[in-house]
Amino acid sequence: MTARVLVVDDVPPNVKLLEAKLTSEYFDVLTAFSGPEALDVISREHPDIILLDVMMPGMDGFEVCRRIKGDPATAHIPVVMVTALDQPSDRVAGLEAGADDFLTKPVQDLALFARVRSLVRLKVMMDELRNREATGANLGWENEEEAIIEIDVPVDGSILVVDEQERVMERIAKALDDVGDLTFIAGGDDAAERAREKNFDLIIVSLTMRNTDGLRVCSKLRSFEETRHVPILVMVDDGNTKLLVRALEMGVNDYVVRPVDRLEFLARVKTQLKRKRYADKLWENFHLSMQLATTDAVTGLYNRHYLTSHMETRLQIAHSSGKPLSVLMMDIDHFKAVNDTYGHAVGDIVLKEFANRMGKNIRGVDLAARYGGEEFVVMMPETPTDWAYMIGDRLRQEVCENKFEVGLKSGPIEISVSIGVATSEPGQSPSQLLEEADKALYAAKAGGRNKVVIAGSAMN
Ligand SMILES: [Mg+2]
Repeated sequence: MTARVLVVDDVPPNVKLLEAKLTSEYFDVLTAFSGPEALDVISREHPDIILLDVMMPGMDGFEVCRRIKGDPATAHIPVVMVTALDQPSDRVAGLEAGADDFLTKPVQDLALFARVRSLVRLKVMMDELRNREATGANLGWENEEEAIIEIDVPVDGSILVVDEQERVMERIAKALDDVGDLTFIAGGDDAAERAREKNFDLIIVSLTMRNTDGLRVCSKLRSFEETRHVPILVMVDDGNTKLLVRALEMGVNDYVVRPVDRLEFLARVKTQLKRKRYADKLWENFHLSMQLATTDAVTGLYNRHYLTSHMETRLQIAHSSGKPLSVLMMDIDHFKAVNDTYGHAVGDIVLKEFANRMGKNIRGVDLAARYGGEEFVVMMPETPTDWAYMIGDRLRQEVCENKFEVGLKSGPIEISVSIGVATSEPGQSPSQLLEEADKALYAAKAGGRNKVVIAGSAMN
C-alpha cells in the first residue's frame, strides 16, 4: 500500500533523512521547509499523510496543524507531529491542535513505518467512503441516512485489553476512560477464544506477559473469522524490537512502548477506533448500495438488471440439470388509465399491492422482479409449464376477484393482469426466453386481457 507523504521540517538534513527512509519503502515523498510552504503544497498536491516538525521559525507546527484541521478540504488528512523527546508538553499541544499521532526525534525506522502505514490504512478507508458518498449523491441517494459520513467520527468503542498485570490495567482504564467500554482478560491461553464472544472494535494485547504468549494470542486473533478484521494494538517493552517486528509482520496494526506515554497511547487508540468505524461504515455502505443497485424502490422487488443477470446463471443450471425453468411475464391491464384517472400516487399503490399479492402466490425459490413500468416477471426454477400456468392463473384470479384498496373515497378499484408463460429450451439465453414470454403476454392482451397464455400454444 503506497501513499504520498509530505515531510515538513525547517532543517534540510532532517527532511533528507526522512525522505530517504520513506522512499526506500516505496512511499511517494513531498517536502516543505516551512509552515507556509507546507500549506501551499498541501492545497496543491493533497498528500495522504503529513509528517510535521513542531519547532519551526515563523509559523510553528502547531499552527500549521490547526490550519490543516480547520480547513474542511484538508481536515481529513492525518497529521503526525514530530516532537523532541524531552518535550512531553508538545504532545498535549499537538493533540489540542488536532494531530493524529506523534513521532519522537530521532525518528526510528520501525516507529516511522508503523505509524505511516497505520495512518495510510485509515486514510484509504476515509477516501473510499468519501468517494462512495459522492457517487451516492450523484445517484440521488443523498437523503439516505446511512450515506451521511462525518470525518470526525465519535470514537467511543468496545475495547478488549489482554494483560496479566492488574496495575497496568488500572492505568489503561484511567487513560481510556472516555473513549470506550473496556473489557479486561487477565491473560490465559484462551484469551483469543474469549475475544470471539463479543464484537470488539479494538483489541490491546501485552506482548510481555509472564504466563501467556502474547504473540500466539495475536496470531489466533488474526485467524479467527470473528476477530480477523478487528484492529490490534500491542504493548511491548522498550528495546524488544525482535518481538515487535514479528508482531507487525503478523498483521498487528500498531504498538506502544512501555513505559507508555498516555497521550500517545490515547492518539493511537483513537486512530484504530476510527479506522474500524470507517471500515464498518464502508461495509454497511456496500450492502446498502448493493440493495439499491438490485432492487426497485417502489415495490422492493428485484430490478430488471438483477433479474436478467441472475437468470443467466439459473438457465445454465436448468440446461445442465435438464430441469425446466419457467417464467411468467405479467402486465397490469389498462394501467395507464389508472394513472391518468387517479394520479401516479394511486398508481404506485396499485404497483405495491400487486407486488404484494404476487409475493404471496409464488414460492421461496421463485424470483420476482419489476421488469418495467407495470410489467413484472417471476422466474421459477425447476418448474414445468403446467405448474407455472397454474401459479400464474391463481395470481390472475387473486388480482381480479379482490379489488385494490387505494385510499380513494369512491372505494377500492378493479384491477386485472395479463400473463404470458414460457419454459426454457436448451441453449436459450435470458433474452430469448423473455421474448417468448413476452409474445405469450401479447397474445393474452390481444385475446381480451385478464388471461394467462402459454408461449407457442394456440391463443386461448
Ligand atoms: Mg525544527
